[in-house]
Amino acid sequence: MEIHRADFLCSNTDWKKCPDLHLPEYAFIGRSNVGKSSLINSLTNNKKLAKTSGRPGKTQLINHFKINNSFLFADLPGYGYAKVSKKTRASFQEFTLRYLEKRKNLICLFLLIDLRISPQKIDLEFMEYCAVKQIPFIICFTKADKIKKREVESKVTEYQNKLKETWEEMPLHFVTSSISKAGCNDVLMFIRDQNKLFH
Ligand code: GDP
Repeated sequence: MEIHRADFLCSNTDWKKCPDLHLPEYAFIGRSNVGKSSLINSLTNNKKLAKTSGRPGKTQLINHFKINNSFLFADLPGYGYAKVSKKTRASFQEFTLRYLEKRKNLICLFLLIDLRISPQKIDLEFMEYCAVKQIPFIICFTKADKIKKREVESKVTEYQNKLKETWEEMPLHFVTSSISKAGCNDVLMFIRDQNKLFH
């Protein structure tokens, strides 16, 4: 599947104001600077769709995009950036969590993890939360181009070993790079297959 069209719809903090369209939706979340905007731009072949910048923590809204006129992407606020005040952080986490819990057409959440960084408490806790709330998620390891192929495998194994401490079954994962576009096709094929099941 190729993405030939991506239209920005709206930005929100309230899940009730998110687009009321009967379309399958895929959301993207992760720690600030994980490469979320870059991955969205890579998947959609659009360098400017989700804003990439060196300033972490800027994307503090739920941004919706209509893709190929047939499904939706939701770009969620990045979490865990220390320079945002505690109050701001609490409120945007709160509305993001409400969105995740309430959004009926959400098919899957892509949880982005920087492959080079060892497992972080905030990500592991967030996965626990998804499990408790039965929010389906898939791990998207990012920035695979930054390390050697052999190292990619050992980093994924290291992450899985950490997860095995608490998880019976491994969450699905993709290994991606916005630079080389590695893994992007796998993500798109997954979305295509899920779209077929949506009705
Ligand atoms: P966000 O805050 O999660 O949206 O992260 P961005 O997409 O803005 O990326 C943060 C930084 O990482 C930017 O400098 C990007 O150019 C860089 N980056 C993102 N994805 C990749 C990738 O796959 N490979 C490499 N080498 N750099 C990346």
